[in-house]
Amino acid sequence: MFLSGTHSELASQIEAIGTPVSIWERAKNGKFNFVSGNTLFQQIVDSEVSSLIGHDVNAVIPRYIVKDVKEALITCVKDQKSIENEIVIERHGRPRWWRFNYSPLVSRNGEVVRVLSTSIEITEKKELEKSLETSMKRFEAVINSAYDGIITIDNDQNIKMFNQAAGEMFDIAHQDAVGMPLVNLLPGRFRHKHNDYVAGFNESPVMSRPMHTRASVMGLRQDGTEFPLEVTISKIRVGQTTEMTAVLRDISERARLIEELRAAAATDPLTGINNRRSFEKQLEAESARCIRFDHTMAIVMFDLDKFKRVNDQFGHTYGDTVLLSVVKQVQSQIRDVDVFARWGGDEFVVLLPETGLDGALKWAEKTRSLVEQQQKNENHAGLTLSMGVTISSGEKDYAQLLATVDQLLFSAKAEGRNRIKHE
Ligand code: GH3
Ligand code: MG
Repeated sequence: MFLSGTHSELASQIEAIGTPVSIWERAKNGKFNFVSGNTLFQQIVDSEVSSLIGHDVNAVIPRYIVKDVKEALITCVKDQKSIENEIVIERHGRPRWWRFNYSPLVSRNGEVVRVLSTSIEITEKKELEKSLETSMKRFEAVINSAYDGIITIDNDQNIKMFNQAAGEMFDIAHQDAVGMPLVNLLPGRFRHKHNDYVAGFNESPVMSRPMHTRASVMGLRQDGTEFPLEVTISKIRVGQTTEMTAVLRDISERARLIEELRAAAATDPLTGINNRRSFEKQLEAESARCIRFDHTMAIVMFDLDKFKRVNDQFGHTYGDTVLLSVVKQVQSQIRDVDVFARWGGDEFVVLLPETGLDGALKWAEKTRSLVEQQQKNENHAGLTLSMGVTISSGEKDYAQLLATVDQLLFSAKAEGRNRIKHE
């Protein structure tokens, strides 16, 4: 019936189809004439269907889409099979997307005589696709212009997404990173712990909600060097799969600055040894250890004798070099576990852990005589040290110890200098 019926014969049947329908017939001159269409087809042509019957496709279909429709009709007839195309039609200023299907209607002798075309509206799908594409592009722009490294891993902890900043951070090409196990980016000693952490984060019912944790970890570059990282991790669940995304920040520079500040805060700028603050902190810790484990430590405080004269005679700069040379000489007597500090001015203090009075006195005498000897050779004015020595086996607090050793040093000065007083 579709093969030969007229519009009036076909109308009731095609009207029952809930989507725009049109039937086209190929004339001898190769043109396609409009045989019939339902009322819904008017959404596409914007005219009364009855007024279009028998007209050529050029007169029926709006000019701006007629080329697509004609090409599809020609191909459908030539290839004798159904084809589809997508066409956007603007009505009342709003674009609507349609998917057209063209099916050949073949006569008994195998000749295509007509084409049946149906259309379904796909505007919503197109708009979704467009907004998805926009989201994807926005996402890519953010990811790739981010200053932070961004890495996504799948259920098996293999890398799925790896942005440019992460590539620069780990010094690894994007194509090498994608598919690689995440742990390859961590130093060996952290890998086991990391796997447990990720598994725990994945399985915990509490952590199954979107969540973020912040922690400092170490990263491993391809050349084997390590660097400190700050990590924020979050996860998303889609169906059965969980994806985790980590945002990484290289904090090498921050860690370096902190270390620099920490060192500067603990160091005497002229001599480079511990300052008073740093000494007191270490003394407090050692003192607590002595009390807890009933150990003994010694404190030696010393001061340069008549140092003012050196300054007065040779100038302050020369005084500085003398101060530095004394420090160097004392340093040659210092073990790794000892703490040597400038107490202030020309006064110094040494903490000797695990040392009793005999040991401390031996150390003090050796140091005193070494400095006396060497300064005699080096320094025009010669220079000696006065010293106070005390020990603690945990019964006194460290402030008391400092007061005692200071008093002993004072006595050494009072009794004529270049000597050691002990308690
Ligand atoms: P005493 O034997 O009683 O210790 O006599 P002194 O001349 O060493 O006197 P005192 O220890 O009271 O004074 C310390 C002097 O050390 C004062 C100052 O001229 C000098 N001094 C302190 N700090 C510095 C420094 O950083 N550089 C130099 N060149 N001299 C310093
Ligand atoms: Mg002095």
